[in-house]
Amino acid sequence: MNALAATSRNFRNAARILGLDAKIEKSLLIPFREIKVECTIPKDDGSLVSYVGFRVQHDNARGPMKGGIRYHPEVDPDEVNALAQLMTWKTAVADIPYGGAKGGIGCTPRELSKSELERLTRVFTQKIHDLIGTHTDVPAPDMGTNAQTMAWILDEYSKFHGHSPAVVTGKPIDLGGSLGREAATGRGVVFGTEALLAEYGKSVKDLTFVIQGFGNVGSWAARLIHERGGKVIAVSDITGAIKNPNGIDITELIKYKENTGSLLNFSGGDNMDPNELLVHECDVLIPSALGGVLNRENASSVKAKFIVEAANHPTDPEADEILSKKGVIILPDIYANAGGVTVSYFEWVQVTDRGKTLSPIDFSEFD
Ligand code: NAD
Repeated sequence: MNALAATSRNFRNAARILGLDAKIEKSLLIPFREIKVECTIPKDDGSLVSYVGFRVQHDNARGPMKGGIRYHPEVDPDEVNALAQLMTWKTAVADIPYGGAKGGIGCTPRELSKSELERLTRVFTQKIHDLIGTHTDVPAPDMGTNAQTMAWILDEYSKFHGHSPAVVTGKPIDLGGSLGREAATGRGVVFGTEALLAEYGKSVKDLTFVIQGFGNVGSWAARLIHERGGKVIAVSDITGAIKNPNGIDITELIKYKENTGSLLNFSGGDNMDPNELLVHECDVLIPSALGGVLNRENASSVKAKFIVEAANHPTDPEADEILSKKGVIILPDIYANAGGVTVSYFEWVQVTDRGKTLSPIDFSEFD
């Protein structure tokens, strides 16, 4: 199901349960503002290439709009709209004074050089700089972007508006970022998992975990589960998937991936079919990559007892119904992955518009 149709359907169900007035329901489904911009950059070989960038500002009733910027070939207006909507619900669930927004560029970042990525980010920022801002809309990293991307946005935005470190979060520490922001989403996923399991008298150290996605969120979740004695028995990323029924040494796998750029052929596991990963036998499945990966085609084959939605909208509504009939417990994205935006909030308030750090908060030792 299309991402926007899926998130809107979930919201309508929630609105019905809340007894929300039909006019408010309708107004909350329509975004505050949708921006679509053309970004043309010179490639390193001198040729010109154009990309389409989006920023959807969903709602600002609770505070400045907040949400990541995604670089991925599947970025499209509906997907960005859905993700912006989810940010509004997520910041409300986390009870931080933000609204929701999301942005993205339809591109394949792995195929762009660092200087091409920088040019693209700067052109995108030039196109949207007058619509984002410290007190209006504050971007952060998402799939395919990171602290470096935020540094480029901050630098480009500051050319127009003066030094404004609080215009983005998830930025490098030297530019006013928070220690621990990089790990925050994965750490929040693990805190949420522990709280969920405790409700069922279980604990991380006694269970097996399968994780789809080994980027920022997935690798941090895997690392922290491994540290707590949980067995991560299968992981995947865009390059492929590996498994080890005795548990993968995540510390070694992170080093291996840093050196080779891939998970495949890791000596501490066996390569496996990535399509089999989501239906692999385990206690807890943690999708940490794309949306809509659990759907009516594979939901009935899922063997996990718990699903923790580290990714945004990994489970589409049809899969939700099938999984709930099977008795699978799902921890929803707007709670499970809210750790990132929560630490972003503290990063944002610790820095003034003039760049003076007020009270640096160290989240890296938060355990
Ligand atoms: P990332 O770019 O750091 O990592 C994404 C990972 O997914 C990579 O390992 C990539 O190889 C993998 N991947 C891509 N396509 C795949 C496929 N088809 N099969 C298996 N793996 C695939 O991104 P991230 O920041 O870790 O974000 C992951 C998810 O978490 C996204 O849904 C994002 O919206 C969500 N999220 C991120 C944050 C954050 O703070 N970064 C916060 C909340 C939610």
